[in-house]
Amino acid sequence: MKHKNQVFDNVLDLVGNTPLIKLNKIASEFKGNFYAKVESFNPGQSSKDRIALYIIEQAEKKGILSPGDTIIETTSGNTGFSIAMVSIIKGYDCVLAVSSKSSADKIDMLKTMGAKVYVCPAHVSADDPRSYYQVAKRLHEEMKGSVYINQYFNELNIDAHYKSTGPEIWEQTEGKITHLVACSGTGGTISGTAKYLKEQNPNIKVIGVDAFGSVIKKYHETREFDKKEIYPYRIEGLGKNLIPGATNFDVIDEFVKVTDEESAHTARLIAKTEGMFVGYTSGAVMQGIKQLGDEGRFKEGDNVVVIFPDHGSRYMSKVYSDKWMNEQGFFDSINEAAIQNIEYIK
Ligand code: PMP
Repeated sequence: MKHKNQVFDNVLDLVGNTPLIKLNKIASEFKGNFYAKVESFNPGQSSKDRIALYIIEQAEKKGILSPGDTIIETTSGNTGFSIAMVSIIKGYDCVLAVSSKSSADKIDMLKTMGAKVYVCPAHVSADDPRSYYQVAKRLHEEMKGSVYINQYFNELNIDAHYKSTGPEIWEQTEGKITHLVACSGTGGTISGTAKYLKEQNPNIKVIGVDAFGSVIKKYHETREFDKKEIYPYRIEGLGKNLIPGATNFDVIDEFVKVTDEESAHTARLIAKTEGMFVGYTSGAVMQGIKQLGDEGRFKEGDNVVVIFPDHGSRYMSKVYSDKWMNEQGFFDSINEAAIQNIEYIK
């Protein structure tokens, strides 16, 4: 843990060593103990700080990067924010090629963090020269001394979690962890953490959480890339329409799939029961726990660790907006008390 009265040199000293916090209410109907690794305690408020810092420092060690060079990535999400943050402190230029689907808030946030943002048309195919993949590739080729992070296909993404998240959880649970349940996007978090934990104790069960509309679960079970699994869904950061090279399928025992709607309600429930304001995929991972718990998969004495990847403030116009929830039809079946929780005094 970070020390209470410590003074830090800069924000990067605060990356990692996030707290493991007991979940006292939300899973109390199930046997076993449940703990959350709360990654919003990172200075960039997500687990992506770990990979941004690690990958950039590895490039420095290899002599690929020196101050003034450029770091390139294709994301408007947490990874983009973390890379921008690390770039500021270390003196790099940060270039992010993002989709025109990205919200104005996200683009403003990245610009605020000093990144140069290329907004690329969302409707073009991945091999179109205007797509954000191709724009990033072109910029990387044109800019001497640039590094392309490429988180979905970069093995260092796994390594970052193998070296930090895994050992932290092992120490925090004093080796008593029995289950790891985590979302899989690039797969870096679950793969690196699981690899470390299974090296310590091969009996630890590792369960990935995937989205309906993503190919990951089926691929894990069949090693078949089934295009029929793909359809649009709303949760960001979870699942994928391709097989990420940064996922080590061999260290994951199984996957559960969750819906947009149930994950959204569960995210809101985490705030109301545990007082933790966390992101949409934290709702997804707890929804996974609920489904596993309903199947009677946990027993007395189990120590189940879930990873909450980021902070709720990034979802104010989505999961935490009653208007958005209503527009998605998510209030149709569950008329949450939240919508009556506000009174306007005239
Ligand atoms: N949750 C959120 C909010 C994310 O941004 C990501 C990263 N895409 C994940 C979960 C999944 O983490 P990973 O990419 O390491 O699988």
